[in-house]
Parts: sequence; C-alpha cells; structure tokens
Amino acid sequence: MNIDLSDKRVIVTGASRGIGRAIACAFAAEGARVAICARDTDAVEAAGRELSEQAQAVIARAVDVTDTRGVQAFVTEVAEAWGGIDVLVNNAGQGRSGNLDNLTPEAILEHANVLQMGHFRFVQAVVPHMRKQRWGRIIEINALAGTIPTPDGIPSVINRASCVALSRSLGMSLAKENILVNSLNMGWIDTGQWDRHYKEMPPGVSREEFDRMVMKVVPVGRYGKPEDVAGMALFLASDYASFISAASIDIAGGMGGQIAYFPTLKRDFVAEAQARNARDRSGDA
Ligand code: NAP
Repeated sequence: MNIDLSDKRVIVTGASRGIGRAIACAFAAEGARVAICARDTDAVEAAGRELSEQAQAVIARAVDVTDTRGVQAFVTEVAEAWGGIDVLVNNAGQGRSGNLDNLTPEAILEHANVLQMGHFRFVQAVVPHMRKQRWGRIIEINALAGTIPTPDGIPSVINRASCVALSRSLGMSLAKENILVNSLNMGWIDTGQWDRHYKEMPPGVSREEFDRMVMKVVPVGRYGKPEDVAGMALFLASDYASFISAASIDIAGGMGGQIAYFPTLKRDFVAEAQARNARDRSGDA
C-alpha cells in the first residue's frame, strides 16, 4: 500500500512528546508539511527541530488548547503560510484520575476545558479552511475509557465519552463536505506513564511481575507503542480511508471491557504485595 501524503498540510496538537510527536514524525516522514503545538516552548521547538530533518516544512508554536484566541491565531498562521489545512490531529491532553470522594466539579470542568473544548476549538478553527477546498481529515485522539466506563477516573471517563460523541457527531455532519472525522481510542500506549505507575508499587514488586499483572487485561500481551497509533493516523489521512467517517476505532491490543476490571486487579495486586511484605517483616523479627 502506498500512502501518499506528500504536500499534505497537517496540524498535530500536543506533539512535543509521546503519541502526538510520533504522529507528527510519521507525517513528516511521508513528506507532509507539519505544524505542531504544545504549552512548553522549549519542548515544542526541540520537537520542531527534529521534525525539520524530514518534513517538507515545519511550524512549531507554544499554544495552550484552552486558549481560544491562541488556537485561532495558530491555525490562521498555518493556513496563511501554507495556503490551507488538510489534516488536523487533535491529540493534546492527559488522563485525570479521581472519584466521587476526592473530586470537585471545578476539577472535572478544568479537564473538560482541555479535552472536549480543546478538541472543539481546533475543529472550529480548521473547518472553514477545509470547507474552502472541500477536503479535510480530522483525527481525534481519545481513550478507550470514553467508550467503556471504568469505576475509577471519573474525569477521563466522562470527558472522553463526550469527546468520542463529539467526534462521531462531527463525522456525520461534516462528511457531505468531504471532511471526515474519526476517533482513535487509546488503550495503553506506553509514553512513560507505566514507569511512573510501577514506581508507585510497594517495595519488592519486580517490574516483570508488575507488567505481567497489567498484561492480564491486554489480549495482545504488550503495551502499545506511539508508532502503533501513528500508522492508523496516516491511514485515516490517506485516500484509502475516503469512505470512513464517524468511526470509533480502539487502538488497545484487543482490550475492551477488561479495562473496567483493571482497578480491581491492581488493588488486589497491591494488597497481596503489601501482605507479602508484612509477612516478610514479621518473619525477620
Ligand atoms: P503525553 O506524553 O503526556 O503528551 C501530551 C502532549 O500534549 C504533550 O505534548 C503536552 O505538552 C501536550 N499538552 C498537554 N496539555 C496541553 C494543553 N493544555 N495545550 C496544549 N498542549 C498540551 O501524552 P500521550 O501519552 O502521548 O497521550 C496523548 C493523548 O492520548 C492525550 O490526549 C492522552 O490523554 C491520550 N491518551 C493516551 C493514553 C496512553 O496510554 N498514552 C491513553 C488514553 C488516552 P505540554 O505539557 O508542553 O503542553
């Protein structure tokens, strides 16, 4: 399959690291022009320099997706520099944990402002440019937890569910104008967070033991790589995907409903490790 994306004008949000950076690199390697943003100026400029080695042209700017004017200014700059925008990858964001006992409504709204409204701001800014050329592809990076509720992580569950609904709604309303919108729902793509999760484990838990526990709910038996997402993003931006819109596609190694069981699995794993440590301590005494 030859995916020709040369000359495409692509915006990837949240591309200073992780999934966004891998997607931006993949488009650059295909000869696209790539514009990226994130909040940290040094990090986004460093990512921009790396992209310049392959991309036909690069624009890298510090933009916060919660800043409506900043988003509009960035999109206008890209459209004016390159005469239009073909592809938007709405990726910026992060997960947020929390439950009924420790969340405030304001914390959930703050997260919604990054996710739901961040996606909405960028779509609203790019669609007029896509309409002019009657061609556009919008790829929404969402989370499996937005399609399958989990018992923990209320902000991620509800705000991602809203993002997936927004993607699907736009995928229907814009399709007649040849602007196709699809949602990619992330399972566990390793961008460093599993090192952090492992560090929270009780002493004595090996990394192998921890990974074995996590993989019990991932049928493919490994963490996803950012490149696994990038491949699907390239496909959705290509002519091979010209009949796909309003789709909700899980990039999760076969994990579905299992994700809802993970908090229980992890809690039991931690409890067993703590009990083992207590037994070892009493044995030492
Ligand atoms: P990551 O490594 O933390 O990267 C997030 C990127 O988004 C960074 O470039 C960050 O840069 C940028 N960003 C965050 N908040 C922003 C804001 N308000 N405005 C502009 N840029 C912002 O995350 P990732 O693991 O690659 O995940 C990428 C997306 O997939 C996120 O939306 C995440 O929630 C979603 N997701 C990931 C997984 C996973 O397993 N990795 C699972 C489910 C969903 P700055 O901090 O400098 O702004």
